[in-house]
Amino acid sequence: MNEPNLKVVDSRSQSNSDWQARKNDAVARGEGNLASVFVDHALGSEIWDVEGKRYIDFGSGIAVCSAGHTHPKITAAVVAQLGKFSHTCVMVTPYDTSVMLAEKLNELAPGPSKKKSIFVTTGAEAVENAVKIARAHTRRRGIIAFNGGYHGRTLMTMGMTGKITPYKNLFGPFPAEIYHAPFPIEYHGISVEDSLKALNNLFICDIAPSDVAAIIVEPIQGEGGFYPAPREFMQALRALCDEHGILMISDEIQTGFARTGKMFCTEYSDIEPDICTVAKGMANGFPIAAVVGKAEIMDAPSPGAIGGTYAGSPIACAAALAMIEVIEEEQLVESATRVAKVFRSRLDKLQAQYPCTIGHLRTSHGAMMAMELVKNGHPDQPDAELTKALLGKATEKGLILLACGSRGNVIRFLPALNISDELVNEGMDIVAECLQELV
Ligand code: PMP
Repeated sequence: MNEPNLKVVDSRSQSNSDWQARKNDAVARGEGNLASVFVDHALGSEIWDVEGKRYIDFGSGIAVCSAGHTHPKITAAVVAQLGKFSHTCVMVTPYDTSVMLAEKLNELAPGPSKKKSIFVTTGAEAVENAVKIARAHTRRRGIIAFNGGYHGRTLMTMGMTGKITPYKNLFGPFPAEIYHAPFPIEYHGISVEDSLKALNNLFICDIAPSDVAAIIVEPIQGEGGFYPAPREFMQALRALCDEHGILMISDEIQTGFARTGKMFCTEYSDIEPDICTVAKGMANGFPIAAVVGKAEIMDAPSPGAIGGTYAGSPIACAAALAMIEVIEEEQLVESATRVAKVFRSRLDKLQAQYPCTIGHLRTSHGAMMAMELVKNGHPDQPDAELTKALLGKATEKGLILLACGSRGNVIRFLPALNISDELVNEGMDIVAECLQELV
């Protein structure tokens, strides 16, 4: 038998297209990549690729690096932790930072009730465990989610996700006892009343409310298209849950940690969810997620029932504690609103210029902004082709932009919360240029 060759091929001088070819050959295509931009390094709101080209980053790694790339305070906290230990497994020999982080999260989570937290590694895992905790507490089976909602790519969370392509094709059957209701989107003619009626109908036709463990809702639908849940809808859900002993889970994975101009987006609705799921912006790029909720609910599963080898990694805990300090010191909650103002003035101008193309702007919740691209100014004529072309052109011109939306026709803006006005304007100049060339 030949000796295994353990030397990794190092050919740093290769171009983006060389790396893309190597990637296509080595990595399964299920892991797509939006841009053929192979990152060399990134700082603040800028990224440089292996060819030395610079990009402005309006995506933050999908709402993750909210304090900007390689934030010095977070890097220092991680380096310090690495010098002490990188892993022992929190379920074997725990460490103080995970306790401190839980205490902080319990304090920050929306609502006055006593909270407890538990750490996992990814957003999908947080949602999975929120469901487990809700079922253990209520001894009920049903989970209600919303059309257009996104909760992850594991089997349960994919089942809960209300968008087929690309998430669900070929992967069924999905776990049982997941029900979907329409999400209220005024722009698409679905009112809060329609949505609540559909929920009531679900209770008559599909599952008795007494069998429902939880209703899960994103305070702003993320992957689904950046549609905010109206305040009165969140309040009506809270009332419905209270009426039937159902738990309300707020999925704050994309909206949490200052992104929307509040620490958590649920705060806009003045309600207390029973459980929140958080991840992404929590540790500025270090993989950690959490379930935080009312203490008596969180304690329903017995010891050992929830966890994972890397759950609450000490490196990620150090990063998350530093991130929370950065949010406070740099006033990122307020900064999200400042950033949104600069975007809004540019987006309003663009919409006035292209009223038939930019069908709808969503800029009411901090630095989680979107423009929906349509044909003929019609909400029901999504322009996914233009959206795709815009992303491609923006990349060519040095701007990383992201899309979303059940119909693939929404451009979303998720910059770092401390991005400068100059960079916002430079990036928006590129968006304007792209539209001029494409429309
Ligand atoms: N829920 C929401 C609202 C999300 O936006 C995401 C990620 N886009 C997830 C869950 C899944 O998180 P992860 O990709 O970390 O599993």
